Amino acid sequence: MFTDFDDMISNLKSPNPDERRDACINLGEIGNPLAVEPVMKLLDDPEKEVRKVACKALGNLGSINTVEPLIKCLEDSVYLVRFNAVVALGKLGDNRAVEPLIECLRDGKRWVRHAACEALGKLGDKRAVEPLIERLNDSFDKAGKVALIALEKLGEGPLAVAIAQLRYDDLIAFAKEGDSRPVDPLVERLETTNIKTQDAIKKALVKINRELKPHADNLLCKKHFTRFALTKLPDVKSSKLRNLSYYACRICKKASNVIPHVHNVTAVLDSDMSKLTSLKRNNLRVNYLKFNGLFDFERIEIVKANIHDVKLFLNRIKRDHDEFRQKRYRKMACTVKRECKSEEILASLREIFENVRVK
Ligand SMILES: [Zn+2]
Repeated sequence: MFTDFDDMISNLKSPNPDERRDACINLGEIGNPLAVEPVMKLLDDPEKEVRKVACKALGNLGSINTVEPLIKCLEDSVYLVRFNAVVALGKLGDNRAVEPLIECLRDGKRWVRHAACEALGKLGDKRAVEPLIERLNDSFDKAGKVALIALEKLGEGPLAVAIAQLRYDDLIAFAKEGDSRPVDPLVERLETTNIKTQDAIKKALVKINRELKPHADNLLCKKHFTRFALTKLPDVKSSKLRNLSYYACRICKKASNVIPHVHNVTAVLDSDMSKLTSLKRNNLRVNYLKFNGLFDFERIEIVKANIHDVKLFLNRIKRDHDEFRQKRYRKMACTVKRECKSEEILASLREIFENVRVK
């Protein structure tokens, strides 16, 4: 047995691709962790068959050291390699794979999309919810069904079923709770279905708008940190749909990628803050230095920043052409931590904000 293992390991270096492939397969089945390093080297093999089985073997070997190399294989030009890498990453269950697997939901090959849905269901990370909801309309193949199962695993079964089966009353009930996620899938289906369904979707969207209205000011796009507003359908061909509007992010026009119930947004300038955001009791703090762009905020907090960062921030505000924001800057509450206070910083802030306090 021992010799067998050693033979297999040395076969991984054989000039014959069939031998390398067979060695990979066998090593994956035996499951000896000593095989991880040598098998991993074959992820770059010139033969696609070898790369393919190497991915599969690493999925079986279960070492988290292989997560990053397997993520690289998601860009392989051969789809079966990508497919096996996706399956392996699903088995390994490491959250570093979440974002790359989300990218695979748009892979040109349906098998890769299927496998990515399944893998994301296994990983159980909530970041996958919105991208999986987008896949629910994937009627070209069974990806929609696989997405549904994955969403059930992620605890979003009721929403997923309501979207997939167009259960309008359920979708309206979600909107009543301030959940805008039913909007995008309905909007997406508008132009692709028959007239009868189209009418039903239109009616549902009108009702959803009504339910979302009281919550609309507290809905914030997760990507742009921008407030929702009534938005018209983009590129409408049918005149019947031209007047239809729905609540969505002012920038990306999407309603799925949402942080609900956000009452206040604070732009924080703090070079010690490592996270992009923190949410406490409906108050969202966004790390401006990390986001590096403007968004919709009501308050400013300068905790730890140099004059250069502050000036760059203020220049952006001066040049901001966004109508929604422009008129609000002057009255915004701006606090500066005592340790960060300098006459230069205070003077520049007071040029823009009426109300600058040192705390
Ligand atoms: Zn957005």
